[in-house]
Amino acid sequence: MKKYLLAPGPTAISPEVLLSMAQPILHHRAPEFVELLKRVKEDLKWLFKTENDVLIIASTGTGGMEGSVSNFLSPGDKALFVNGGKFGERWGKICKSYGVETVEIKVEWGCVVNPNDVAAALEKDPSIKAVFTQASETSTGVAHPIKEVAEVVRGYDHCLMVVDAISALGVFDVQTDAWGLDVVVSGSQKALALPPGLAFVSVSEKAWRQAEKTNNATFYFDFKKERAAIQKNQTAYTAAVSLIVGLEQSLKMMREEGLENIFARRALMAKALREGMTAIGLSSFPKEGASTSVTAISVPEGYDGQAIYKDLRVKYGITAAGGQDHLKGKVFRISNMGYLDTFDTIMAVAAVEMVLKAMGHPLTLGTGVGVAQEILLKK
Ligand SMILES: *Cc1c(COP(=O)(O)O)cnc(C)c1O
Repeated sequence: MKKYLLAPGPTAISPEVLLSMAQPILHHRAPEFVELLKRVKEDLKWLFKTENDVLIIASTGTGGMEGSVSNFLSPGDKALFVNGGKFGERWGKICKSYGVETVEIKVEWGCVVNPNDVAAALEKDPSIKAVFTQASETSTGVAHPIKEVAEVVRGYDHCLMVVDAISALGVFDVQTDAWGLDVVVSGSQKALALPPGLAFVSVSEKAWRQAEKTNNATFYFDFKKERAAIQKNQTAYTAAVSLIVGLEQSLKMMREEGLENIFARRALMAKALREGMTAIGLSSFPKEGASTSVTAISVPEGYDGQAIYKDLRVKYGITAAGGQDHLKGKVFRISNMGYLDTFDTIMAVAAVEMVLKAMGHPLTLGTGVGVAQEILLKK
């Protein structure tokens, strides 16, 4: 059976990237690799839309998140986090494990954070030193209005805007410098269509100043060490050389397509998937701010989302994702990240139609596919 990876991470990888990583291992201090890192460094700045160096760390995205807490806050400091899903919740857990006091803005799953709530919280407690949020909350398929939240945070000199853009950067627009995002975290196995194992973190001057005053315990995730290394086109420890070779290839292909074209293509694919689902009686789970990175689809009354997700895999070789926590069984999620194009979207719609039809859901095969095709034809 042919396999298709439509999970919101890890995502499918292009043959070009896979082949590039099959080359013999470079030594991480070899001049050839240092030259490669120099190029990759520039490509990452382009992707992040920043003038600051982007740190490259051998870890999953969570490692980048952890360092974004431990390098900028000390035990006893206070931070605000937006909790609108599994990944928002993770910010809170990391803060707690580093002795950082938290103020939580709880957002109903499927909704976006209201920037006014952030403004009110900061006004009420001016000792808050950082605001942690997601650009795209992968567990619910919602994109938070980070530009607007950053505008609020920018009014506080001593407060950092920290964004987990792991499932956003490279799918929709995130403007690190222009929006005043102090710390932006990304990872390899989502939108960048690489294997898991790399985290990327951009850090603003404001954040580096705050890092000078921090006394939290960190060793491996010491961003100052990584900054000193990347300034010399190196990494502090052994670089994940093969992944970085793959990264160069992935970023090269992204540059060829162009960021704005990528955003437009992904948005169209997400729309086709969403409307294809609506046409067969399903609905998009988010009440607002549906992310173009991952589509969370509500399951019709009387059906089990886990069964749909399982049938996709067992019958058709398609790995999507189910729902998490209280959404288990109520939603399933289909990724729009990774090495995917027009016919992956059409295939996803077709497969969901076939799975639901077999379960007895009343639908005419091809209805959703037709709607998706109409939308994708406008490309
Ligand atoms: C995948 C993901 C992460 C990090 O997960 P890792 O498994 O550590 O790579 C963090 N935040 C979001 C929004 C994600 O989608």
